[in-house]
Amino acid sequence: MVLARGVGTTVKRYFGYNGHTDMARNIQKPRGTQDILPIEQRYWFWIEDNWRKMMLSAGFGRITTPTFEDTNLFTRGVGETTDIVSKEMYSFKDRSDNPLTLRPEGTAGVVRAYIENGMHKDPQPVKLYYFGPMFRYDRPQSGRYREFYQAGVELLGELDPIVDAQIIAIVMKYYTKLGLKDIVVRINSVGDAKSRPKIQRALIDFLSAHRRNLCKDCKRRMTKNPLRVLDCKEKSCQAVAEEAGGVVLDNLNNDSRNYFTKVLEYLDDMRVEYELDPRLVRGLDYYTHTVFEVTTKTGGLSLGAGGRYDGLVELLGGPDTPAVGFAVGVERTIDTLKQQQANVPEPMKPNVFVVQLGDDAKKKAIQVIDRLDNAGYQVAHALGRGSIKSQLRVADRLGTSLAVIIGSQEVHDKSVIIRDLNDRTQESVLDRDMIKAVQRKLKEKK
Ligand code: AMP
Repeated sequence: MVLARGVGTTVKRYFGYNGHTDMARNIQKPRGTQDILPIEQRYWFWIEDNWRKMMLSAGFGRITTPTFEDTNLFTRGVGETTDIVSKEMYSFKDRSDNPLTLRPEGTAGVVRAYIENGMHKDPQPVKLYYFGPMFRYDRPQSGRYREFYQAGVELLGELDPIVDAQIIAIVMKYYTKLGLKDIVVRINSVGDAKSRPKIQRALIDFLSAHRRNLCKDCKRRMTKNPLRVLDCKEKSCQAVAEEAGGVVLDNLNNDSRNYFTKVLEYLDDMRVEYELDPRLVRGLDYYTHTVFEVTTKTGGLSLGAGGRYDGLVELLGGPDTPAVGFAVGVERTIDTLKQQQANVPEPMKPNVFVVQLGDDAKKKAIQVIDRLDNAGYQVAHALGRGSIKSQLRVADRLGTSLAVIIGSQEVHDKSVIIRDLNDRTQESVLDRDMIKAVQRKLKEKK
């Protein structure tokens, strides 16, 4: 005991820490971030793959913009009094003193790219989609991270209520295709730019009467940007916002009201189930007209959100261009898929497992794997393992139900054994017939 303690002390004094394990324990992922392990990836693949398919078939092209942008893009685009800009941005100066920010959302970057690449000169509308990480210094809790992913869609250059309805219909179809049940889109209108002064005045009147119940931030921003109070996360402000519901809708001008009515009519025609939510305003300043959010019918965190933003392109230096978009919150959508026990397939489940016994068989296995791979099969193996039993255990863990087995006899005979791992039947086939036999066997198993 004494000796052991003495050794430990020396190591500590010499290296300055208690050996490698303690050092490793000290470094952890930053708060609010996640490691997405292989076992989780099928959800991510499912989300991304369906998004890509849905977007491409609806005529949207993929865009990838930088993960960090000039800080001014967000202060100007998202709005200085929003929670995102005032409290949640990861902003820094690089070594040349450029003010940069890890993007907190995707729309501002897409709009910047639209202007910078002259896409406003292309035939309109321009239809884009993206997938990537966003960063917000949010209070981490279940479903709320500091790094999270969004699958987004933006349609620029068209102002028509049918476009708003179409975007909503597409994203609802997407959620349904993923396997989600009991979801609903909650919808509201925050009016066009001309409606805004009247709405703001009415809201300020209302909020002034409830000022003492508002949080410190809202007391400050209430006169500058009263809409922001309605989506404040503080409980006391939420209670006030509950009562304020209706003030926005009641003060829309005629154009905005007509526009909104048409969006709802189109949604009825498209048989999209929605719920009117007069309180919904969304936490970004750029929204005009329609705003919407998808949740399960029992409520809870929003699985995705979007709306129309007719002033943003111009605000960021482009021509006057209407636009509408939506972003799927990937982590929350995955959480809900799990809660609802949706059937999410394993994307890369291998269909053939190659087993080998002995050195010559191992060499032959390399060629067999290559032939199966070239024929389009997903081939798994455990070439580093010796015994059949341990190799088959790997096959079992991967869920593979067909094995191609090679021993020294098979090397000599120029053959392989094809074994059904479920019913344990097997047959020997010549090398040249292997692909055909695997194909037949897999077909039978279907
Ligand atoms: P927003 O960009 O704020 O309109 O958010 C769009 C969607 O992104 C939300 O509906 C959420 O699903 C998701 N989201 C927003 N913030 C977070 C966060 N901190 N952590 C995880 N998901 C988020």
